[in-house]
Amino acid sequence: MSGMSSTETPATDIQPCVRLRNISVQFEDFEALKDVSVEFPLGKTTLIMGPSGCGKSTLLKVAAGLLPPDRGEVEIAGVDALRGRPRAMSEMRKNTGFVFQDAGLWQNMTLFDNMALPLEFHYPERAENVVRREIYAWATRFDLSSILPLRPSTLSGGERKLISFCRAMILNPNLLFLDEPTTFVDRLGVERMLSVLREKKASGCSMIGVTHDADLTSQLADYILVMKAGELREFGTTSEIARSRDPEVREILADVLDEAATYDGDILDLLEPNGDLF
Ligand code: ADP
Ligand code: MG
Repeated sequence: MSGMSSTETPATDIQPCVRLRNISVQFEDFEALKDVSVEFPLGKTTLIMGPSGCGKSTLLKVAAGLLPPDRGEVEIAGVDALRGRPRAMSEMRKNTGFVFQDAGLWQNMTLFDNMALPLEFHYPERAENVVRREIYAWATRFDLSSILPLRPSTLSGGERKLISFCRAMILNPNLLFLDEPTTFVDRLGVERMLSVLREKKASGCSMIGVTHDADLTSQLADYILVMKAGELREFGTTSEIARSRDPEVREILADVLDEAATYDGDILDLLEPNGDLF
């Protein structure tokens, strides 16, 4: 949090979309998350960065209420995600989307049925032709409508990721979790994804993501959370993090954001290509 300029709002004054308190997660004798506390700002985009295996996906699943931690508190959109009432939990999920690192599609269902599932669950009264139109509208935006009758096993990794992305959008969420959404996706697919995410951001959607994509980071990130070995290393606005003097934080950012970022100046460029920093 060092080097904060007077024009920036301190993270602590901002209302959170997700509040995590003292989260620990243990996988057998391995501690994947160690006492992590963070408040993800409402209506903002926070990107989680850190080396492979440091616990990014685990943190994202805990923040989405999909993985109950061994210790700690999870509050999502004001609802206690561990002890919340089923009605409040369902309402919270209705407004949430999740793109899984491995796409997380149901293998025994067609892509169409995968995308229909959230709508059928949360809006059972919605007419079949309306559901169909919504699914085709999203698939068409990504040039995927012809593959909707197929099953996930026949697709490329990039196509699976795009379908997972479309499925996450289908409920028009105001809280979005993105676990390496652009991995395996070609440039055109990434461009289309970015255009959707820019719209979501402009509409006030809260986003929490994991990515190595420098474009996605520079275009979307408001806040960055840096992790190492299951611990929160640093959390702050993009420019606070870009200006961090902590050599370990700088090294993690350089690694994560590409070999291109070898020098301090490169990291600033990647995070804020249009920033007026000097
Ligand atoms: P990241 O997303 O940062 O690469 P993960 O959150 O996926 O890391 O995993 C953190 C650590 O926890 C890794 O060492 C991983 O092998 C381990 N891990 C993740 N999920 C499980 C699981 N279900 N069972 C056992 N170990 C797991
Ligand atoms: Mg991961």
